[in-house]
Amino acid sequence: MENNKEFRTFPDIGKDAITEEVNDYLCSIRSEGLTEEIEWNEDPVLDSEEEAVNTLMEKEDVPVAAVRFYDYPETEKSDRQLDLEYMYEKQKRAIAKTNETVHYSGDNMKISKHTCKNCGSSIATAYIKSNFCPVCGADLRPDSVIEKQEKQVKRLEELEKKLHDEIAKQREKNKDSAVVKWLVMLDTE
Ligand SMILES: [Zn+2]
Repeated sequence: MENNKEFRTFPDIGKDAITEEVNDYLCSIRSEGLTEEIEWNEDPVLDSEEEAVNTLMEKEDVPVAAVRFYDYPETEKSDRQLDLEYMYEKQKRAIAKTNETVHYSGDNMKISKHTCKNCGSSIATAYIKSNFCPVCGADLRPDSVIEKQEKQVKRLEELEKKLHDEIAKQREKNKDSAVVKWLVMLDTE
């Protein structure tokens, strides 16, 4: 199926008014207006526009579908969120650095051969350009380095969860000032 889906956001002005708007819009871009009924999904009111987009994407076989979502006012990020974002980015860089550092290479090791623990190949360190065995693809680094990296990844996941929780907490606080809107996905073909 051709993908000609388009998303349009509307304030909660009522189904008739939205239907009219969608029809007018379609008339302006193609030869005919709405040819199918809009599938209205009033509940649940989704937590963000992003979630609304994802929910509608799952309805790709429905020609015109609509869901409701909470649109939150722009508010300043909390200090905790800023801190967490900073730590998250820092941790991501640390992991990238661990991954980029080639552990065995002619430059930083005196030994000239390294034996792969997995396949037993003896590899000249001068030819080692990555952390993976050129013969079997196994990670050549010592367990201590691999463990360090696993810990770093675990820490990153913890930070991500905390960040997610903090954003959810702030949202909950601002829920009273959130406005319900409709997101309509239409087939423009
Ligand atoms: Zn190997």
